[in-house]
Amino acid sequence: MANRYVILPAAPFLVLVAAMCFSAAVTDSEPSSSEGIQQALAALSSGQAERAERIAAKVAAGEAEGAWRAWLIVASARHRLDRYASAQKAYRQFLSLCRSPAERVYVMEQIDRCRLASAEPAGAVVVSEQLSPRRRAKLSTVDNRRFTESSEHFVVRARNSDLARLIVKQAEIALGRICRIILSGQDYPHSVSIYVWSNVAEYRKHAVSAPEWSGGSFSLRQDDNGQIIRRIDLTQLGGDGLFDAAMLDRVLPHEMCHLVLAEFFGDAPCPLALNEGLAMLAEARVDNSRVLLTGAALAGGGKIPLRKLLRMDRCDADNAAVFYAESFSLTAYLHKRMTPGQFGEMLAHIKTGCPLDEAVQRALYVPGNETFGKRLSAAWEAEALRQWQFLQALD
Ligand SMILES: [Zn+2]
Repeated sequence: MANRYVILPAAPFLVLVAAMCFSAAVTDSEPSSSEGIQQALAALSSGQAERAERIAAKVAAGEAEGAWRAWLIVASARHRLDRYASAQKAYRQFLSLCRSPAERVYVMEQIDRCRLASAEPAGAVVVSEQLSPRRRAKLSTVDNRRFTESSEHFVVRARNSDLARLIVKQAEIALGRICRIILSGQDYPHSVSIYVWSNVAEYRKHAVSAPEWSGGSFSLRQDDNGQIIRRIDLTQLGGDGLFDAAMLDRVLPHEMCHLVLAEFFGDAPCPLALNEGLAMLAEARVDNSRVLLTGAALAGGGKIPLRKLLRMDRCDADNAAVFYAESFSLTAYLHKRMTPGQFGEMLAHIKTGCPLDEAVQRALYVPGNETFGKRLSAAWEAEALRQWQFLQALD
């Protein structure tokens, strides 16, 4: 019984799936299932998830010894296509015959990921889309007095009682999302003060740290008694004098994520691209313009190569849009391809000073060599281009 070795240079994330599909059960004596599995893996590694699913489903339905392992490719392909319910079914098919403890842990983590992804329908959290014109008008009013609303993790102060209630609820939802992404689902054991200022002038006057261009910011500082003060400042009204719904969906989760990250990393150096990428990932919805801009940049219009992206500690007007778009694309790619456990491990390695590519390689337990960074870069770029082409096709 000789195992086959599978070499998939462009996709380190597939190494584990490939190894699991080619463990002892699939041998030279079973050419039909192993050839099919090899073809399906090749399709998956080149981004052809639909094709991979078709080939693997055919193999899995067959009688050949070890054919059941193809369920893992079916599941991975469906997972990549965001078909979470049917992906879970395929993972369970694999699990029903798998006896390896390590493989079972991996597959159960994937099932968890599918469950989490499907449990958070966009409409449930993109609250601005659910606000009626009447409610928006109400949220645009500024009262003379300040209202305070509290929850488990937040104390919100705003000069609009409805807004204070809305923010305290959305803040808890956003924090739940951030804890799932960064803290591997652990609870956040702190309290954060959120101040909502009526307009930009008020915000700039009162916010602890208010960069020129921002309508929201966070701060983490020690008071005179040595107590850590966690704070977020937001702006209620936009330049048009109306309620700015972006503060709920975008600014609030974005600044909250920076706050959680600031404490999580402490003095450890976290690449700015990852920090901003995570903050964008925490926002309530995916901004497709970032996906389109990344694709256009990678296809030849002023791309920032991965190596450079990870070294940048600031950006300027010339490259800010591409920097933010690529940072989001890269972080979303890593988050989607890794299990929550692996993603958490990657962050933990970065916290100890590991460069990002080495942290990914360690979290995935794949052998380290100097080509890993290049392969990671190629795999991310291929996926970003695939997404770009997909969005363009829908246009
Ligand atoms: Zn940011």
